[in-house]
Amino acid sequence: MSMESDIKFIDENGLRIDGRRPDELRHIKIEAGVLENADGSAYVEFGKNKVLAAVYGPRECHPRHLQNPSKAIIQCKYNMMTFSVSDRKRPGPDRRSVEISKIISEALESVVQTELFPRASIDVYMEILQANAGTRCAGLVAASVALADAGVPMKDIIPAIAVGKADGKLLLDLNKEEDNYGQADVPMAIIPKTGEVVLLQMDGHMTQEEFETALDMGIKACYEIYELQKDALKRRYAVETPEVEE
Ligand code: UDP
Repeated sequence: MSMESDIKFIDENGLRIDGRRPDELRHIKIEAGVLENADGSAYVEFGKNKVLAAVYGPRECHPRHLQNPSKAIIQCKYNMMTFSVSDRKRPGPDRRSVEISKIISEALESVVQTELFPRASIDVYMEILQANAGTRCAGLVAASVALADAGVPMKDIIPAIAVGKADGKLLLDLNKEEDNYGQADVPMAIIPKTGEVVLLQMDGHMTQEEFETALDMGIKACYEIYELQKDALKRRYAVETPEVEE
Protein backbone atom coordinates (compact mmCIF):
# COMPACT_ATOMS: atom_id res chain seq x y z
CA MET A 1 0.00 0.00 0.00
CA SER A 2 2.73 2.43 0.92
CA MET A 3 4.76 1.74 -2.19
CA GLU A 4 4.18 4.20 -5.01
CA SER A 5 4.17 2.46 -8.35
CA ASP A 6 4.00 3.08 -12.07
CA ILE A 7 1.42 0.34 -12.54
CA LYS A 8 -1.64 1.42 -14.54
CA PHE A 9 -4.57 -0.14 -12.69
CA ILE A 10 -7.38 0.95 -15.04
CA ASP A 11 -7.03 0.77 -18.84
CA GLU A 12 -8.59 3.04 -21.48
CA ASN A 13 -11.73 0.88 -21.48
CA GLY A 14 -12.16 1.31 -17.72
CA LEU A 15 -11.13 -2.28 -17.00
CA ARG A 16 -8.74 -3.60 -14.35
CA ILE A 17 -5.50 -5.58 -14.75
CA ASP A 18 -7.45 -8.84 -14.52
CA GLY A 19 -10.15 -7.61 -16.92
CA ARG A 20 -12.80 -6.86 -14.29
CA ARG A 21 -14.98 -3.78 -14.06
CA PRO A 22 -14.35 -1.63 -10.93
CA ASP A 23 -17.46 -3.01 -9.19
CA GLU A 24 -17.00 -6.64 -10.25
CA LEU A 25 -16.22 -9.50 -7.85
CA ARG A 26 -13.74 -12.23 -8.69
CA HIS A 27 -15.19 -15.68 -9.32
CA ILE A 28 -16.30 -17.10 -5.97
CA LYS A 29 -16.60 -20.78 -5.22
CA ILE A 30 -17.87 -22.14 -1.89
CA GLU A 31 -18.17 -25.77 -0.83
CA ALA A 32 -19.39 -26.95 2.58
CA GLY A 33 -18.40 -30.19 4.32
CA VAL A 34 -15.18 -31.01 2.50
CA LEU A 35 -13.26 -32.66 5.37
CA GLU A 36 -14.12 -36.00 6.94
CA ASN A 37 -12.46 -35.53 10.33
CA ALA A 38 -13.61 -32.05 11.37
CA ASP A 39 -17.02 -31.30 12.91
CA GLY A 40 -17.59 -28.77 10.13
CA SER A 41 -15.59 -27.53 7.17
CA ALA A 42 -15.61 -25.40 4.04
CA TYR A 43 -13.47 -24.67 1.00
CA VAL A 44 -13.57 -21.19 -0.54
CA GLU A 45 -12.01 -19.58 -3.62
CA PHE A 46 -12.11 -15.82 -4.26
CA GLY A 47 -10.36 -15.68 -7.63
CA LYS A 48 -6.86 -17.07 -6.98
CA ASN A 49 -7.34 -17.21 -3.18
CA LYS A 50 -7.82 -20.76 -1.90
CA VAL A 51 -8.87 -21.28 1.71
CA LEU A 52 -9.81 -24.29 3.82
CA ALA A 53 -11.67 -23.84 7.11
CA ALA A 54 -12.22 -26.52 9.75
CA VAL A 55 -14.29 -26.28 12.92
CA TYR A 56 -14.11 -28.39 16.09
CA GLY A 57 -16.55 -28.08 18.95
CA PRO A 58 -18.16 -26.84 21.01
CA ARG A 59 -15.75 -28.93 23.12
CA GLU A 60 -13.91 -28.70 26.41
CA CYS A 61 -11.77 -25.58 26.48
CA HIS A 62 -7.99 -26.00 26.69
CA PRO A 63 -6.04 -24.38 28.20
CA ARG A 64 -8.53 -24.44 31.06
CA HIS A 65 -7.71 -20.97 32.37
CA LEU A 66 -9.30 -19.55 29.21
CA GLN A 67 -12.68 -21.06 30.11
CA ASN A 68 -15.52 -18.59 30.57
CA PRO A 69 -18.22 -19.79 33.00
CA SER A 70 -20.96 -17.90 31.16
CA LYS A 71 -20.22 -18.66 27.51
CA ALA A 72 -18.06 -20.50 24.99
CA ILE A 73 -14.96 -18.84 23.62
CA ILE A 74 -14.14 -18.87 19.91
CA GLN A 75 -10.49 -19.64 19.22
CA CYS A 76 -9.52 -18.81 15.65
CA LYS A 77 -6.29 -19.66 13.93
CA TYR A 78 -5.56 -18.05 10.56
CA ASN A 79 -2.47 -19.53 8.93
CA MET A 80 -0.75 -19.04 5.58
CA MET A 81 0.89 -22.12 4.08
CA THR A 82 4.57 -21.67 3.17
CA PHE A 83 3.66 -22.19 -0.50
CA SER A 84 0.66 -19.80 -0.47
CA VAL A 85 2.60 -16.72 -1.60
CA SER A 86 5.29 -16.09 -4.23
CA ASP A 87 8.09 -15.61 -1.67
CA ARG A 88 8.07 -18.57 0.70
CA LYS A 89 6.08 -17.70 3.83
CA ARG A 90 8.02 -18.44 7.00
CA PRO A 91 5.95 -21.02 8.89
CA GLY A 92 4.37 -20.21 12.23
CA PRO A 93 2.43 -17.31 13.69
CA ASP A 94 3.45 -13.70 13.06
CA ARG A 95 1.95 -10.32 13.98
CA ARG A 96 -0.28 -10.29 10.91
CA SER A 97 -1.77 -13.76 11.44
CA VAL A 98 -2.38 -13.07 15.15
CA GLU A 99 -4.22 -9.86 14.22
CA ILE A 100 -6.31 -11.56 11.53
CA SER A 101 -7.20 -14.45 13.87
CA LYS A 102 -8.35 -11.92 16.49
CA ILE A 103 -10.58 -9.82 14.20
CA ILE A 104 -12.16 -12.94 12.65
CA SER A 105 -12.86 -14.37 16.10
CA GLU A 106 -14.50 -11.08 17.18
CA ALA A 107 -16.67 -11.02 14.06
CA LEU A 108 -17.80 -14.62 14.66
CA GLU A 109 -18.61 -13.89 18.31
CA SER A 110 -21.30 -11.51 17.07
CA VAL A 111 -23.30 -14.36 15.50
CA VAL A 112 -22.42 -17.59 17.33
CA GLN A 113 -24.70 -18.29 20.30
CA THR A 114 -21.82 -18.78 22.69
CA GLU A 115 -24.04 -18.37 25.77
CA LEU A 116 -25.45 -21.85 25.07
CA PHE A 117 -22.07 -23.49 25.79
CA PRO A 118 -20.54 -22.17 29.02
CA ARG A 119 -16.89 -23.19 29.60
CA ALA A 120 -16.58 -24.63 26.08
CA SER A 121 -14.31 -23.73 23.20
CA ILE A 122 -15.23 -23.55 19.54
CA ASP A 123 -12.06 -23.89 17.51
CA VAL A 124 -11.86 -22.50 13.99
CA TYR A 125 -8.84 -23.16 11.77
CA MET A 126 -8.33 -21.29 8.50
CA GLU A 127 -5.54 -22.45 6.24
CA ILE A 128 -4.62 -20.21 3.32
CA LEU A 129 -3.47 -22.55 0.55
CA GLN A 130 -3.02 -19.77 -2.00
CA ALA A 131 -3.12 -16.01 -1.40
CA ASN A 132 -3.96 -13.20 -3.78
CA ALA A 133 -5.28 -10.42 -1.49
CA GLY A 134 -8.50 -10.58 0.47
CA THR A 135 -7.56 -13.72 2.39
CA ARG A 136 -8.97 -12.43 5.72
CA CYS A 137 -12.34 -11.98 3.97
CA ALA A 138 -12.18 -15.36 2.23
CA GLY A 139 -11.11 -16.91 5.56
CA LEU A 140 -14.10 -15.42 7.40
CA VAL A 141 -16.50 -16.49 4.64
CA ALA A 142 -15.13 -20.04 4.88
CA ALA A 143 -15.20 -20.03 8.70
CA SER A 144 -18.87 -18.97 8.78
CA VAL A 145 -19.89 -21.77 6.43
CA ALA A 146 -17.78 -24.30 8.35
CA LEU A 147 -19.46 -23.28 11.64
CA ALA A 148 -22.89 -23.70 10.10
CA ASP A 149 -21.77 -27.06 8.64
CA ALA A 150 -20.72 -28.12 12.15
CA GLY A 151 -24.24 -27.35 13.37
CA VAL A 152 -23.05 -24.63 15.75
CA PRO A 153 -26.09 -22.46 16.66
CA MET A 154 -25.74 -19.06 14.98
CA LYS A 155 -27.93 -16.02 14.47
CA ASP A 156 -26.66 -15.65 10.90
CA ILE A 157 -23.69 -16.42 8.67
CA ILE A 158 -21.18 -13.69 7.89
CA PRO A 159 -20.10 -12.61 4.40
CA ALA A 160 -17.01 -10.42 3.94
CA ILE A 161 -15.26 -8.49 1.15
CA ALA A 162 -12.62 -5.81 0.65
CA VAL A 163 -13.10 -2.58 -1.28
CA GLY A 164 -10.10 -0.43 -2.14
CA LYS A 165 -8.75 2.34 -4.26
CA ALA A 166 -6.19 2.46 -7.04
CA ASP A 167 -5.61 5.10 -9.75
CA GLY A 168 -8.05 7.26 -7.75
CA LYS A 169 -10.90 4.83 -8.43
CA LEU A 170 -12.83 2.64 -5.99
CA LEU A 171 -12.42 -1.06 -6.74
CA LEU A 172 -14.39 -4.00 -5.38
CA ASP A 173 -12.55 -7.12 -4.21
CA LEU A 174 -8.91 -6.05 -4.71
CA ASN A 175 -6.44 -8.45 -6.28
CA LYS A 176 -2.84 -8.66 -5.09
CA GLU A 177 -1.41 -5.90 -7.34
CA GLU A 178 -4.24 -3.53 -6.41
CA ASP A 179 -3.87 -4.37 -2.71
CA ASN A 180 -0.07 -4.14 -2.56
CA TYR A 181 0.45 -1.08 -4.80
CA GLY A 182 -2.91 0.71 -4.66
CA GLN A 183 -3.97 3.63 -2.46
CA ALA A 184 -6.36 2.01 0.03
CA ASP A 185 -7.78 -1.31 1.20
CA VAL A 186 -10.95 -1.57 3.31
CA PRO A 187 -11.96 -5.11 4.31
CA MET A 188 -15.42 -5.42 5.86
CA ALA A 189 -17.99 -7.98 7.04
CA ILE A 190 -21.65 -7.71 7.99
CA ILE A 191 -24.48 -9.60 9.65
CA PRO A 192 -26.90 -9.72 6.70
CA LYS A 193 -30.10 -10.03 8.76
CA THR A 194 -29.42 -6.80 10.67
CA GLY A 195 -26.98 -4.98 8.37
CA GLU A 196 -24.61 -4.59 11.33
CA VAL A 197 -20.94 -4.17 10.37
CA VAL A 198 -18.82 -6.64 12.38
CA LEU A 199 -15.42 -6.16 10.75
CA LEU A 200 -14.05 -2.95 9.30
CA GLN A 201 -10.42 -2.05 8.76
CA MET A 202 -8.64 0.52 6.64
CA ASP A 203 -5.16 0.59 5.24
CA GLY A 204 -4.23 3.67 3.17
CA HIS A 205 -6.22 6.82 2.50
CA MET A 206 -9.71 7.70 1.25
CA THR A 207 -11.88 10.80 1.47
CA GLN A 208 -14.99 10.52 3.63
CA GLU A 209 -17.16 10.47 0.50
CA GLU A 210 -15.07 7.69 -1.04
CA PHE A 211 -15.23 5.76 2.22
CA GLU A 212 -19.04 5.95 2.29
CA THR A 213 -19.27 4.81 -1.33
CA ALA A 214 -16.79 2.01 -0.60
CA LEU A 215 -18.97 0.85 2.31
CA ASP A 216 -22.05 0.81 0.07
CA MET A 217 -20.19 -1.18 -2.63
CA GLY A 218 -18.89 -3.67 -0.07
CA ILE A 219 -22.19 -4.18 1.72
CA LYS A 220 -24.00 -4.80 -1.60
CA ALA A 221 -21.36 -7.40 -2.51
CA CYS A 222 -21.68 -9.00 0.95
CA TYR A 223 -25.35 -9.75 0.25
CA GLU A 224 -24.33 -11.49 -3.01
CA ILE A 225 -21.71 -13.56 -1.17
CA TYR A 226 -24.30 -14.41 1.52
CA GLU A 227 -26.46 -16.05 -1.17
CA LEU A 228 -23.46 -18.14 -2.31
CA GLN A 229 -22.78 -19.21 1.31
CA LYS A 230 -26.40 -20.31 1.75
CA ASP A 231 -26.34 -22.13 -1.63
CA ALA A 232 -23.25 -24.07 -0.54
CA LEU A 233 -25.00 -25.20 2.67
CA LYS A 234 -28.17 -26.12 0.76
CA ARG A 235 -26.14 -28.21 -1.71
CA ARG A 236 -24.40 -29.96 1.17
CA TYR A 237 -27.63 -30.85 2.97
CA ALA A 238 -29.99 -31.33 0.02
CA VAL A 239 -31.70 -34.70 0.40
CA GLU A 240 -32.24 -36.51 -2.84
CA THR A 241 -35.68 -38.07 -2.81
CA PRO A 242 -35.53 -41.52 -4.40
CA GLU A 243 -37.77 -41.96 -7.41
CA VAL A 244 -40.85 -43.96 -6.55
CA GLU A 245 -41.68 -46.73 -8.99
CA GLU A 246 -45.27 -46.83 -10.13
N1 UDP B 1 1.05 -11.36 1.26
C1 UDP B 1 2.26 -12.00 1.01
N2 UDP B 1 3.05 -12.38 2.08
C2 UDP B 1 2.70 -12.14 3.38
C3 UDP B 1 1.47 -11.49 3.61
C4 UDP B 1 0.68 -11.12 2.54
O1 UDP B 1 2.60 -12.22 -0.14
O2 UDP B 1 3.44 -12.50 4.30
C5 UDP B 1 0.18 -11.03 0.12
C6 UDP B 1 -0.93 -12.05 -0.01
O3 UDP B 1 -1.23 -12.27 -1.37
C7 UDP B 1 -2.10 -11.36 0.67
C8 UDP B 1 -1.85 -9.93 0.21
O4 UDP B 1 -0.45 -9.77 0.31
O5 UDP B 1 -3.36 -11.89 0.27
C9 UDP B 1 -2.57 -8.88 1.03
O6 UDP B 1 -2.28 -9.01 2.39
P1 UDP B 1 -3.09 -8.26 3.50
O7 UDP B 1 -2.23 -8.20 4.71
O8 UDP B 1 -3.68 -7.01 2.95
O9 UDP B 1 -4.29 -9.28 3.87
P2 UDP B 1 -5.46 -9.88 2.96
O10 UDP B 1 -5.78 -8.87 1.89
O11 UDP B 1 -4.97 -11.18 2.39
O12 UDP B 1 -6.59 -10.09 3.90
